[in-house]
Amino acid sequence: MDSFHNLINGEWVAGASEAPNINPSDTNDVIGLYAQADAHQAQAAIAAARAAFASWSLSTPQQRFDILDAAGSEILARKDEIGRLLSREEGKTLPEGIGETMRAAMIFKFFAGEALRCGGEVVPSVRPGVSVEVTREPLGVVGLIAPWNFPIAIPAWKIAPALAYGNCVVFKPAELVPGCAWTLADILHRAGVPKGVFNLVMGSGSVVGNAFVESPDVDAVSFTGSVATGRRIVQACAARGVKVQAEMGGKNPLVVLDDADLGVAVNAAVQSAYFSTGQRCTASSRIIVTQGIHDRFVDAVVNRLAQLRVDHALKAGTDIGPVVDARQLAGDLEYVGIARREGGRVVCGGGVLERETPGFYQQPALVTETTPAMRINREEVFGPVASVIRARDYEHALALANDTEFGLSSGVCTTSLKYATHFKRHAQAGMVMVNLPTAGVDYHVPFGGRKGSSYGPREQGSYAREFYTTVKTAYSAS
Ligand code: NAD
Repeated sequence: MDSFHNLINGEWVAGASEAPNINPSDTNDVIGLYAQADAHQAQAAIAAARAAFASWSLSTPQQRFDILDAAGSEILARKDEIGRLLSREEGKTLPEGIGETMRAAMIFKFFAGEALRCGGEVVPSVRPGVSVEVTREPLGVVGLIAPWNFPIAIPAWKIAPALAYGNCVVFKPAELVPGCAWTLADILHRAGVPKGVFNLVMGSGSVVGNAFVESPDVDAVSFTGSVATGRRIVQACAARGVKVQAEMGGKNPLVVLDDADLGVAVNAAVQSAYFSTGQRCTASSRIIVTQGIHDRFVDAVVNRLAQLRVDHALKAGTDIGPVVDARQLAGDLEYVGIARREGGRVVCGGGVLERETPGFYQQPALVTETTPAMRINREEVFGPVASVIRARDYEHALALANDTEFGLSSGVCTTSLKYATHFKRHAQAGMVMVNLPTAGVDYHVPFGGRKGSSYGPREQGSYAREFYTTVKTAYSAS
């Protein structure tokens, strides 16, 4: 069995212990043994990053471009192999795994360009004989903490901008998906990242993640994960007075209006609620349907779900892979039970499936006749479970869509320009989709939410520089 080490100060070092990386499609398949750092090792990585910052912060844009561009090219060239590893450790289907890997490559390419584009401004002063420059500088050492559901894209959209704008990185992937993180670290190492500039520290959230959050040598923390963890991290960073960005959960609504194209609506709902096993922060888990189309829509979704194949993520023909682990599966099933007890009708799915290999296979579930107050409509499930709420008309549907503490992505299916335009303006979400799934976004534009879903500046696109740089205004007598 291969062992995979942490990357600290340019060296591969064994962890304090090791943990197996287990394939959720086949729990007999152990992908490898991955290092688990202790707090001491996390501190060593932070110290290495701190020491490397003086020189890296003065690196040329060309140097940063070359490294990020080379990393993007290698990821792209190895998309089939890395995509396979991703699907093997996380459980999304092979086409989804390869697609996510290509997205990560594009993110590195985009931020390679951003290293060159990050200029400043010369502003005329209001005073005679004075000139003013507004420039951006890196923050220092940034701690990056990622969830398991996008094992390469989320690390990419944190690491690439952090390095592009001249920061040093300590990166902790989620415990369930160290494989893609290690591969990414290996690629960056060989692409020529100077020692200490990028450090991979695999290990637990309570030890490694906590060390990043608490260390006085970490100048900013970018976190993606659950609401509970995110809120704790935001509070801890605020107490230390350091910059923090947290992308957290969602309870994303998809509104289907009477005038919707039924095929478009069914596709948007099935894609965003169930693909990637429903394990996307942008999944539309709350489907709000007006009365005139409700029954036809529910029948069509049920028919479509019956045609989908849930199986081993790497098997040709699989539409939906397994749930990521036993704990998540138990949680998903519990929510189906809660929805049923609270009066919802489970019109399909919600049980466990047996396949050739031992894995965490779940039938995609649809719960109808739900009301906004039910827990299934208020709490994030993060699995292949969606609920349907009946709405009287557009105004009622919009009010239901916004009736949530989350605000990541929000969608509407309609053929009316009037409703589409109104919804784009009034949906209380960071991202709005018209006749598209709520999940599935471009890599060159801002990503993030409102309300309880997000805290701090947006990620991705040029907006990422709002988090990864600090602004300096310089005055000179001329
Ligand atoms: P999680 O909060 O359990 O873990 C996320 C990361 O935080 C992991 O690396 C974990 O080890 C670390 N962590 C845990 N405790 C910590 C602590 N005390 N200090 C520091 N770090 C700690 O989340 P998860 O289960 O890995 O991911 C699923 C969640 O992520 C869902 O809620 C989903 O909606 C959310 N998510 C959000 C986005 C977004 O951009 N909004 C994207 C993907 C996933």
